[in-house]
Amino acid sequence: MSQTSPVIVALDFPSETETMQLVDQLEPSLCRLKVGKELFTRCGPALVKKLVDKGFDVFLDLKYHDIPNTVAHACAAAADLGVWMLNVHALGGEKMMVAARQALSENDSPLLIAVTWLTSSGQPELDALGINATPLQMVSRLALMTKNSGLDGIVCSAQEAPYIRQELGGSLGSEFLLVTPGIRPAAAQFSGASKDDQCRVATPAQAIKDGASYLVIGRPVTQADDPCRILRTIISDII
Ligand code: C5P
Repeated sequence: MSQTSPVIVALDFPSETETMQLVDQLEPSLCRLKVGKELFTRCGPALVKKLVDKGFDVFLDLKYHDIPNTVAHACAAAADLGVWMLNVHALGGEKMMVAARQALSENDSPLLIAVTWLTSSGQPELDALGINATPLQMVSRLALMTKNSGLDGIVCSAQEAPYIRQELGGSLGSEFLLVTPGIRPAAAQFSGASKDDQCRVATPAQAIKDGASYLVIGRPVTQADDPCRILRTIISDII
């Protein structure tokens, strides 16, 4: 399959009907698809398989965070669905991430990435947890731990991407994936593109310029009057 678009559309829908209304307008060459907690909890593995069978690369975004054995088995189960990418939460620690990696050690395994610090959180949330670090320090620390655990990349905000590429690039390697949510198109041309609950945001063009490998975009596309038009406009701005 020829995949050139770096856009991953977040299918944050409550039902299969609403999901397929959007998916039927999309093509695998236009975007990849992300299935997160809401859709997975409502529709389960059957819908993930349906999307895979339609030819889409699917990112299963369940952010596993548990004891190593449980996470390893969950990752193996996700791989059995034929997903392209899946993730764990880096805050689960190195032992957990190594176990996840080992559960996926075969050649055709999905990409495995780790969430660092949620794009909806910033300094106040770190302070409230008593963590003496800035979001950038937190993301950097977790990025290095993720790399040491043998994973393929991280989820981070595009705001951290340039620092990670420039300052940690030597340790992480250029192939290390930066997957960035919190993407908001330049406001004027898009109706309804607010920050929503996101905190550390960037435009698609800025995110790519700053070193993002893939952009996760939800509401600016899924809530648009014409999702396909918005998606094509975003892609034409960044490719
Ligand atoms: O609608 P919006 O573009 O804000 O959606 C962003 C998507 O990326 C959501 O599905 C959210 O769960 C996911 N995500 C995120 N921040 C992370 C990891 C995943 O926003 N750090």
